[in-house]
Amino acid sequence: MTSDGSAASAGPNVPVWDPDGALALPRLRGDLAADVCVIGLGGAGLTAVLRLRERGLRVVGLDAGPVAGGAAGRNGGLLLAGTAAPYHRAVRALGRERARALYRRTAREIGAVLEAAPGTGSRPGSLRIAASAEELADGVAQRRAMRADRLPVEPYEGPEGRGLLFPEDGAVDPLRRCRALARAAVREGADLNDRSPVTSVDAPDDRSARVVRTPHGRVRCRQAIVAIDGGLARLLPELAGTVRTVRLQMLATAPTDRPALPRPVYYRYGFEYWRRTPDGRIALGGFRDVGGAGESTDDPTPGDVVQERLTRFLREHLRVEAPVTHRWAASVGFGPGTLPFVGEVRPRVWATGGYDGTGNLIGAVAGRALADRLAGDDPVELRWLGAR
Ligand SMILES: Cc1cc2nc3c(=O)[nH]c(=O)nc-3n(C[C@H](O)[C@H](O)[C@H](O)COP(=O)(O)OP(=O)(O)OC[C@H]3O[C@@H](n4cnc5c(N)ncnc54)[C@H](O)[C@@H]3O)c2cc1C
Repeated sequence: MTSDGSAASAGPNVPVWDPDGALALPRLRGDLAADVCVIGLGGAGLTAVLRLRERGLRVVGLDAGPVAGGAAGRNGGLLLAGTAAPYHRAVRALGRERARALYRRTAREIGAVLEAAPGTGSRPGSLRIAASAEELADGVAQRRAMRADRLPVEPYEGPEGRGLLFPEDGAVDPLRRCRALARAAVREGADLNDRSPVTSVDAPDDRSARVVRTPHGRVRCRQAIVAIDGGLARLLPELAGTVRTVRLQMLATAPTDRPALPRPVYYRYGFEYWRRTPDGRIALGGFRDVGGAGESTDDPTPGDVVQERLTRFLREHLRVEAPVTHRWAASVGFGPGTLPFVGEVRPRVWATGGYDGTGNLIGAVAGRALADRLAGDDPVELRWLGAR
């Protein structure tokens, strides 16, 4: 990469978020026993771990890499209420009651995310900016549907363009958020292990223990939650036709004064998104469609086609001249429809993922609901999410 970032060679794949503060966790060695084993320590898995501890269950958590080494610590940090689909489309797909319930529930989760990880984010609102006349009209339809259901939205026109303002949305440093969750989980008595990739989950069809295997150890547990989004189909081949892996990419610049950008922007139906970081950088993601089939990959490293397009957009559309300092990517899961996959894949082995690249909130909602289910409740969120 040149010093001004104009050439888009991939670079070292380091996200812009908090370079310090990694947790020192053990690697799983030998045998452990637990009520529940949570596989995947991103936002969804860590939320589940904390909830299980609140419910008094013994929990072992495992991650292949460091905590939030995947998408959960490498994303844009936008906290947008609702499902991946704009509200009026969610209403069409799910019905009004369910779409509204999920919108309200995810909006409430913004507060829960910020409360669980104090100092890592805020609620400046967000913008949906139209890239075309057609998208502007789609925004009008979204606003009508939201207004009809008394959800917070306003028309917007300003330096970013025209579209909608969602005054209650939020933004977070996703890596600091997850590390704060992991620290809290350890404090609350969860046994977290990193550098412990799960190679198999045995689930005999009887009362005996589930056995979760890693290269150097095993966890015997009554139940398991697999919260590995983009990795689901690799560990649970049953989900191969349901959740597919996609690579998403971002870049970030050195601190800069312009544009002012008081709140994150979601553009071109969410393909592109950008925001300011707390230290004044511009973080920009998108153009997975420009990458085409090349982005349907397990390879979580940045690729030139998308990075070049991001750089051009940064310079020509956002008119940002600051040098590019970070380029990174991660794998996410794209699900079967408007909702992610949440369900019991093998006896007493539950999985969640396929958030279509917007899992910061709905992943946490799913993780907490699964924890409550495994603690013996029947949380309404699982019905809203269409859990199978
Ligand atoms: C570039 C980018 C930008 C994004 N921007 C946003 C955004 O602004 N807002 C938003 O809401 N969403 C965004 N997303 C999507 C969001 O990051 C994901 O939907 C969310 O992180 C999924 O939650 P998770 O807990 O499943 O996270 P993940 O990070 O995907 O968690 C999976 C964890 O499981 C671990 N794992 C995988 N396989 C195994 C295994 N076999 N054994 C043990 N551990 C394993 C991984 O190491 C990882 O830590 C973005 C994603 C990317 C990549």
